[in-house]
Amino acid sequence: MDGPVLCAQGLVKEFRGFRAVDGVDLSVAGGTVHALVGPNGAGKTTLFNLLTGFLKPTEGRIRLGEHDLTGRRPEQVARHGVARSFQITSLFAQLTPREHLQLALAGGTGLTWRFWRSDRTLDRFSERAAELLDEVGLTDHADIPAGTLAYGRKRALELALALALDPKVLLLDEPTAGMGVEDIDRTVDLVRRVREGRTVVMVEHNMSVVARLADRVTVLQNGRVLVEGPYDEIRDDPRVVTAYLGDPDVAR
Ligand code: ADP
Ligand code: MG
Repeated sequence: MDGPVLCAQGLVKEFRGFRAVDGVDLSVAGGTVHALVGPNGAGKTTLFNLLTGFLKPTEGRIRLGEHDLTGRRPEQVARHGVARSFQITSLFAQLTPREHLQLALAGGTGLTWRFWRSDRTLDRFSERAAELLDEVGLTDHADIPAGTLAYGRKRALELALALALDPKVLLLDEPTAGMGVEDIDRTVDLVRRVREGRTVVMVEHNMSVVARLADRVTVLQNGRVLVEGPYDEIRDDPRVVTAYLGDPDVAR
């Protein structure tokens, strides 16, 4: 583990005067899995969107190593090596997982759509596409339309698309949301696999998933950092227990 790769200082996000994120300092160490948790409405998604450039902070700064990412647009943030897992809605129902990955890899080289359409051009990316499909366990489902994939496999494809950007920092927004036990277990294994050599920031509602994956945990409440530390420490912290009372959903 090296120094912090991703840092936020004094981050504030106001929506019409309401501070959804209210002065958050965050320091994510290289090579770690860092979980952002907290009861509903704590500001997790807003913070996630700030870190990936989908929202601009009202105040505060975001740094990636030496680079100041404050106010950068999502594409610029991604180009600096911060990738978020795509939303399922961004998948093309008729394209196969392999085609999705070949297009994503071709996009990273700056080729235009005109070139993407040429099969020969896409062939250049077939080897890397196959590796990524294997990494997320989709080899056996590589050539069927993405629209027909089961939910957990769509999420795996989104993850592979984020990995195609070869990110330094991978951000996952509730990777297990809406999943049954089996898909959750598979996703935990998947994140364990893809974290190798990477830094992962993960918003996660399910505390047993956090327990299994996270090196450090930041607990948010009312837009602020309530507690931060290793999972084993924050789990029994009375402030965390109190924050989660009234949100039994989280304590699953
Ligand atoms: P979490 O992901 O932890 O559940 P959110 O970041 O989604 O919390 O929301 C934090 C607070 O900010 C909530 O009170 C929510 O209603 C509010 N909020 C989030 N996005 C907006 C928005 N675009 N406009 C107004 N209020 C918002
Ligand atoms: Mg949320």
